[in-house]
Amino acid sequence: MGGQSEKEGELLIYINGALVPKSEAKISVFDHGLLYGDGVFEGIRAYGGKVFRLEEHIDRLYESAHCIWLKIPMTKEEMQQAILQTLRANCFKDAYIRVVVTRGVGDLGLDPWRCSNPSVIIIADRIEVFPSEFYERGIEAIIVSTRRNSPQALNPAIKSLNYLNNIFAKIEAKVAGKQEAIMLTIDGYVAEGSGENIFIVKNGCLHTPPAYMGILRGITRGVVMELACRFNIPAYETVLTARDLYTADECFLTGTGAEIVPIVAIDGRPIGDGKPGRITRQLMEAFRELTLNEGTPIY
Ligand code: PLP
Repeated sequence: MGGQSEKEGELLIYINGALVPKSEAKISVFDHGLLYGDGVFEGIRAYGGKVFRLEEHIDRLYESAHCIWLKIPMTKEEMQQAILQTLRANCFKDAYIRVVVTRGVGDLGLDPWRCSNPSVIIIADRIEVFPSEFYERGIEAIIVSTRRNSPQALNPAIKSLNYLNNIFAKIEAKVAGKQEAIMLTIDGYVAEGSGENIFIVKNGCLHTPPAYMGILRGITRGVVMELACRFNIPAYETVLTARDLYTADECFLTGTGAEIVPIVAIDGRPIGDGKPGRITRQLMEAFRELTLNEGTPIY
């Protein structure tokens, strides 16, 4: 794994066109990204010198921005180059990349029209993966009482800087001593994890909640659907209840950070035989292989 910048070993952070050492990478306290969570972001991974699904992430970033009436002050091509430039400046081959676009500096009022220049920030850092035993043994999750934001209020398909809904869920899981939270929709159907999508395996078929339920359309979720197709595993978008989770043969979460992580117990009930299932393990292996074999070259 790479990760050393040439300047005093400090990470270099991209802020509005400049690469600055981490200790100098600062934004204004009047930035509405800070004051109101007014902005959008992406989490992207690089594996072995290639950025995984870079174009898909950039497309989602621009779609999120469009939905919140935010014009990103650069083209998608320029954004791609800025991400690659940040990785190169830090000599990274494997990294987690956080792209943040905020509304920019305004005044203390809400009015986004008073913010003239969106701030574009790109942070590339070492990957914070879950401990390896999470992948070998699986994790325990609980269904939390915090419901996923209603799409009528703040659509979870928009990857905005407002993550308090997800943070509440994570806090509930941690307080309960479990690794992850599963959130339900306002109507009580399964939505997603605090920062991951959810799948179950039942009778050899994959099921994941439909995007219209009010979830983030995860890029890893899409990759898992592609892999299912490749392995002739029937995969469906299905409205799921808590009961469907409890009685699943297998269950797992997907996300750029977490990749594919097996869930072996939910609300204290073992899932299947309480161990990561066969299909989950098959998908985990195929996913790992894919991340090493495809992507946008950094160098
Ligand atoms: N759901 C939420 C709420 C997330 O924050 C994320 C992570 O970005 C995901 C799902 C998984 O999406 P992806 O696979 O694109 O990382």
